[in-house]
Amino acid sequence: MKKLQSIGFNVYAGSGSLNQINLHIKKSNYSSVHLICDDNTFAYCLPFFLENCKEIKSPYIIQLPGGEKNKNLKSTQLIWKSLIKQGANRKSLVINLGGGVITDMGAFAASTFMRGIDFIQVPTTLLAMVDASVGGKTGVDLGKLKNMIGTFTPPVMVCIDLGFLKSLPEKEIKSGYAEVIKHALIADHKQFERLKKISSSKIVIKDDELFLSVAIKNKIVKKDFKEVAERKLLNFGHTIGHAIEGYLLETKSSLLHGEAIFIGMMCENYIAFKKGILHKKEFTKVESYLKTLIVKNAFQEKDFSKILSLTKFDKKNTNKQINFTLLTSIGKGLINQTASAEEMHESLKYYISL
Ligand code: NAD
Repeated sequence: MKKLQSIGFNVYAGSGSLNQINLHIKKSNYSSVHLICDDNTFAYCLPFFLENCKEIKSPYIIQLPGGEKNKNLKSTQLIWKSLIKQGANRKSLVINLGGGVITDMGAFAASTFMRGIDFIQVPTTLLAMVDASVGGKTGVDLGKLKNMIGTFTPPVMVCIDLGFLKSLPEKEIKSGYAEVIKHALIADHKQFERLKKISSSKIVIKDDELFLSVAIKNKIVKKDFKEVAERKLLNFGHTIGHAIEGYLLETKSSLLHGEAIFIGMMCENYIAFKKGILHKKEFTKVESYLKTLIVKNAFQEKDFSKILSLTKFDKKNTNKQINFTLLTSIGKGLINQTASAEEMHESLKYYISL
């Protein structure tokens, strides 16, 4: 097991990390423990979790329907009402057992319940392990607007056990891999060189690569918890990616978060190249690997204006300028960049031409 120090809490990764929960519960005096999971994590992850966390005696379970379409205030209300019904109070502990939807929403519910109670993040998808559960951002979507309502609240701890990935479908592994690639592209060119060797048809991530990815995210978060500056680096691929994800969310062709981010990174790689910020050689290197990973034809030209209209709601924007993080080279991102409507349009055109 490896340990990373974050802002007032620790991130534990590797086998044995769940035991940290036992140790924490032993020394704390919680009045009750409430486990939040979705239908899949209830079935596939809860038995393994309880097997490893024997100090949790008679936990209350809050089981929700899974998926991004349920990451909203309606589900949050359900959590709050269940907590009340189960007798939770300020001395209760919430444990979020799930992917990014559960860790974001469960953390949001806990951070606002009775003005905030303790919660622990136990991510069960690759995406939540390397990204969603690590930085203290909590939240839910408001209609098509991704993560519009939320808080910055650190958990008590994050416990990452790769054992959970055994039951995770391949499509979900690939979605999480988008954030692993993103971390490499913004901060570690050596990691990108290693990842490039991983075949897009069968993504297998070793412990070290996963740990490095978590460490990149954690290092950035520690420097800038509230995303005033450096944390914006983590938004590479997300300005366009979130707009695509939000636009497709309520359609039959919705994408997984990472699938949308792969397309977003592809488009934003193109924007950086077109602006002359990124050298052609590096642009092509990124393009040729991402090309093997993206979902093709996720939308058509007739959808562009609606997708681009959603970029106006991006939380990073200031003074009506759409804010981007762009690459200047592999392993180096540049925050607070902008792109015109034409440049964004051109990048979507580039994507559909691939
Ligand atoms: P998810 O939580 O919907 O999980 C994906 C699917 O896998 C779900 O159907 C879930 O039930 C299932 N699942 C989870 N663990 C499983 C397991 N071990 N075995 C079998 N099935 C399992 O989605 P996600 O991709 O984990 O997370 C996406 C969310 O994360 C988005 O809402 C995104 O906005 C958020 N996110 C947040 C941050 C942040 O900093 N807070 C960062 C990145 C992404």
